[in-house]
Amino acid sequence: MKIGFIGLGNMGGPMAANLAKAGHQVQGFDMADVAIEGVTMVGSGAEAVTGAEVVITMLPNGQILRAVADQILPAMAAGATLVDCSTVDVDSARAVAQQATEAGQLFVDAPVSGGVGGAAGGTLTFMAGGSAEAFAQADPLFTIMGQKAVHCGDAGAGQAAKICNNMVLGVTMIATCEAFALADKLGLDRQKMFDVVSTSSGYSWTMNAYCPAPGVGPQSPADNDYQPGFAAELMLKDLRLSQQAAISADADTPMGELAQALYTQFVESEDGMGMDFSAMLPRFEKRGRG
Ligand code: NAD
Repeated sequence: MKIGFIGLGNMGGPMAANLAKAGHQVQGFDMADVAIEGVTMVGSGAEAVTGAEVVITMLPNGQILRAVADQILPAMAAGATLVDCSTVDVDSARAVAQQATEAGQLFVDAPVSGGVGGAAGGTLTFMAGGSAEAFAQADPLFTIMGQKAVHCGDAGAGQAAKICNNMVLGVTMIATCEAFALADKLGLDRQKMFDVVSTSSGYSWTMNAYCPAPGVGPQSPADNDYQPGFAAELMLKDLRLSQQAAISADADTPMGELAQALYTQFVESEDGMGMDFSAMLPRFEKRGRG
């Protein structure tokens, strides 16, 4: 298949390389000067998408996605499919879907989970929104770049699933970290805390699979000085998207709002930038109630 790929950064680069390795003809464009094995880099977005059956974008945010869509949709063939794998706001996903439909093209929003390791290993999970026809076009490529793709519903449903999941993740990570910090102050051994909570009703992915306490539970960024992993600023991005969507949909999300406020403080006013999102634990550890 002839594929156009726009945005070959930390995630897009290895995803495009996996498509090329599987035998697809991939033309790439990025604003930065990048070289990706097996991918033919070209000078513009319009050039990258010319003649492509499927175009994939992996960009920083919704504003950039909208700008790129304006450039590439007129250059895409009729009936071609645009698959946006970036994490963006639901409104941008739906606006670009509408624009693609009006231009006679198909659109799927398909944000991913699995991080840079998942992108390199071809083990991402895709959460997809769009018509059945559009999903069917993209699905064989999801199989190469990932291990699972869930068709969540119409355009925007993939982004909705992603931000709802990550709102749970942010809130749960904070709850897990504050519980460890409280346990410390109560003189409870961290290993004992893990042994109990990970097998009791307080268990969660953040406790059981990604434990924020160094030396406790399975290997996680906590065991590597909180080097990401999943950076606190990326968690903040997703929490902001969840609150933007909550405002737009008139949904009451007090815990999501508080999680956003805490990660904002951590990233913008404390030392959270560049740290894994589980570094909330040393943050709580240092603080009292004041
Ligand atoms: P990145 O910054 O490494 O890559 C983005 C790329 O887009 C860059 O190479 C940049 O030069 C390029 N770009 C920006 N504007 C452009 C334009 N107008 N035209 C062409 N190229 C342009 O970011 P990333 O970590 O690869 O993340 C990409 C997306 O994936 C984001 O939406 C992010 O939220 C999401 N995501 C990231 C992770 C992760 O762990 N990194 C995990 C899941 C989802």
